[in-house]
Formats: sequence, structure tokens, C-alpha cells
Amino acid sequence: MSVEPDPVNAEPLDVQQLRGDFPVLQQPMNGHRLAFLDSAASAQKPQAVIDAERGCYERYYANIHRGVYQLSQQSTQAYEGVREIVRQFLNADSEREVVFVRGATEAINLVAQSFVRPMLGPGDEVLITGMEHHANIVPWQMITEVTGARLVVAPVLDDGQLDMDALRERISDRTRFISVVHVSNTLGTINPVEAITALARERGIPVLVDGAQSAPHMTVDMQALGADFYCFSAHKTYGPSGAGVLWGRLEHLEAMPPYQGGGDMIRTVTFEKTEYAEPPQRFEAGTPNIAGVIALGAGLEYMMGIGRNRILDHEVGLLEYANEAIKEINGLRVIGTAPDKAGVISFVMDHAHPHDIGTILDMEGVAVRAGHHCTQPLMQRFGVPATVRASFGLYNDRADVDQLVAGLRKVNELFG
Ligand code: PLP
Repeated sequence: MSVEPDPVNAEPLDVQQLRGDFPVLQQPMNGHRLAFLDSAASAQKPQAVIDAERGCYERYYANIHRGVYQLSQQSTQAYEGVREIVRQFLNADSEREVVFVRGATEAINLVAQSFVRPMLGPGDEVLITGMEHHANIVPWQMITEVTGARLVVAPVLDDGQLDMDALRERISDRTRFISVVHVSNTLGTINPVEAITALARERGIPVLVDGAQSAPHMTVDMQALGADFYCFSAHKTYGPSGAGVLWGRLEHLEAMPPYQGGGDMIRTVTFEKTEYAEPPQRFEAGTPNIAGVIALGAGLEYMMGIGRNRILDHEVGLLEYANEAIKEINGLRVIGTAPDKAGVISFVMDHAHPHDIGTILDMEGVAVRAGHHCTQPLMQRFGVPATVRASFGLYNDRADVDQLVAGLRKVNELFG
């Protein structure tokens, strides 16, 4: 089965029109037009997402599942209906493979605790890469520590590409699981995840792909990816915070114990014994983020309505423009220059600290992130404490890049 929900449309995005969908972008910032260049941390929300969340609370909110009255049935239908939207978005086999979670962090912890931890023993290995977000490091440290297993790390090359030769060498007969980021939030590197899942499959090793930075920017297809698990956070796919998705192959989900116990994840409970519900409900204990999940669906529909290939083309075009434009800034060094990159530019400057750069840019109306981006080991790899990161979303345009470059010139005037 192959579903391609995005329209087949090669027209470039009409960014001016799309910007109009985002109320927050309409305001000035410190006396300037707002150039929002921090979508890798969290994307802004289109009116359709705001309306979906608000509409739920205004018109039909009630707790979901088992309610016999109409509001509860309406809420349940809207919440459960999002599984099909996610299934389409991911081109997954079944809605039953779609688990709603709080975000990518919770998804990875769920897989670590429920799927991987029970299979680890002393000397076993979990393989990750040197460019992981802390969310894809710490959960593995937690379970390798208690089981006597080892965390093995595939290194990153100087240009920010994953060292695939080293990764291949580090897969051993003790490797029990591989967890790898699809797109680096700090470097923008797009990793060859399909090649990694192919390597893993030959050896029968399951793989999780952290899609927190791929789902917002490109078509992701669970049939083609070859992974066992994939996850993302709604707040980066133009949806609300506090909602996200874990996709897992049904045979794994069916074999996994629950992550948390409580209401809504059971079939029957007695004091002697509890029978768990089937997946995905087995992994959704307690009252979920009902309106948030409904708005998550609206965000994905918004992206699919525009067309994810067009979004990617637009953002990569903007990256090329920005790469050229920042060449004229003296003393600026880009960290992460892999040939296959999403719309993220991390950089340092000779005479100014990233936090000072971020503050000066803010005064110019430019919102960027300065810091370690939850990738401290990667910062150590490149010998910097922090970088400035500008990241693009579908609503960014060349004017945003021009404003960034003008701001950086000002930094050099003040510090250079
Ligand atoms: N993985 C990557 C690559 C990320 O960029 C992020 C967030 O920045 C996460 C995981 C964690 O996402 P969240 O904080 O939404 O759970």
C-alpha cells in the first residue's frame, strides 16, 4: 500500500500568503519585522491549528472513550480520527501502529523501557550516533546502566556527516538495538537512515528513528524507511506542545508490556490481576492531551495540504541562499556542512559569544537559538561550548535571511 496524501504540485510556495496563516508572525519585534528563525526548537502555529484546539474546547470537549453522551462521543471520534491522519502522514500500515504520547522524548523513553530494556543483559550494546539530541542519549544510558549493557556511539565526521564506515564497524554481535536521529537538530545533517535500517535488518537488529526534525520538513514513509519505530513531536510539525507520536511495527507493540499503568490502558482489572488493552491503547494510560492531539492532526493536515516536497524544496532553497549570504560575514564559521542538509545553520563567530549574538539579533527582530541545543556531546566533538542556530520553517523567506545577515553585520560592528 502506498498513500501519497500530499498534492502533486511542483509550484513554489507562496510564502507571503502562508505567512498570513500565522498570527504570531504579524507582530513587530523590538521595532522590526519579526524574523522567526527558531522552528527547529518549536514551530509557530497556523490559524487552522489554533482553531482546531480552540474549537474542541468551545464546541465538543469531554473526556474520551466510554462516555455514552454525545460530547464524549464527538471528542472520542475527533481524537481517534487523528490516528488515520497520522497513518496517512507516515504512510503506515495501520492506525493501530500510532501511539499518542507527549512528544519525541516520551516516545523514546517508552521504547527504551518497554521494548529494549527487557532484552538487555550484561555486555549487550545499544548503538546511537554522536549527533543525538539528549532525548536520544539519556534514555539509553538509563537502561544500559541498570542492565550492565553498553552504549556505543558512531562518530561524526568533520563536516557533520555521520561516519558510516565507523557505524558499520560498531555494529557487533552484541548490538541489540540501534537508535538514530533522522535529521540533526544542531547540524541539519540528513542521515542515510534507510541505509542504516538495511544494515540492521541484515543482522536482525531493530531500529528507532528519531524523526523530531524530519517530520516537520519532508515526506516520511514508514514503508520505505525500514525502521521498527519512528517518533516526532507535534510542536515542531506546526501543532501544539505536549502531544506527539510514536509509530511502531504492530508485532512489536503487541509484544511490548505497557510503559505506564492506569486508566484507559486496561481490559479488566482485579486486585489479583490486570489484563492490558491492545495497542495502541495499552500505551496511553490516563487522560491524554485530547485537544492537543486533535490540533496535532490539524497541523499534519496543514502540512500535507501544502505538500511536504514543496516545503522541503522551499527550505533547502532558503538554506542555499543563506549559505551564500553569510559568507560575507567576517569571522563566521558554520558548524555542519554536510552535502545533504535540512534548513538549519549552526555557526560561531570569532569575537562574540553565541548568547551575545542571540541577544543582539533579538534587538533586530531576529529570533535564533543560542546554546548547546540539547546536544552537549556534539558540542564537545566540535570543540565549542555553544553555537548560534538559525532554522527555517515553511513561513521563512529571503527577507528573514537578509535581516539575519544585517544583524550579524551589527554584531561585527560591536564586537569585531
Ligand atoms: N530529538 C530531536 C532531534 C530534537 O530536535 C528534539 C527537540 O528539540 C527532541 C528529540 C525532543 O523533542 P521533545 O522535546 O519535543 O520531546
